[in-house]
Amino acid sequence: MAAHDAKRAENQHIARSANRRLQDVAGRTAEDGIVIPFLCECAGGACMGRIEITIDDYFVAHLDPDYYVIVPGHPRIDGEVLVGDHGHYEVVNKAAA
Ligand SMILES: [Zn+2]
Repeated sequence: MAAHDAKRAENQHIARSANRRLQDVAGRTAEDGIVIPFLCECAGGACMGRIEITIDDYFVAHLDPDYYVIVPGHPRIDGEVLVGDHGHYEVVNKAAA
């Protein structure tokens, strides 16, 4: 993996851990069907993108831990595969990267 890809992977992990906390808190307090502004989990370092989906959608998108949710068109690591196009967000599999 090239150095810039390692940095990109780190960016994704930072967004992912922030989203995990959001999911944890919202999962305990939010009502079903409420849309949560999750962070875009793309490889861009300064990405301020938001994925507005429900806790359930976020959970389903991450049943595979190698899956990440991103704003459509945001930077991906070489080799990442698009596994779901939901219109206002995409799910990518970074396992192959
Ligand atoms: Zn992004």
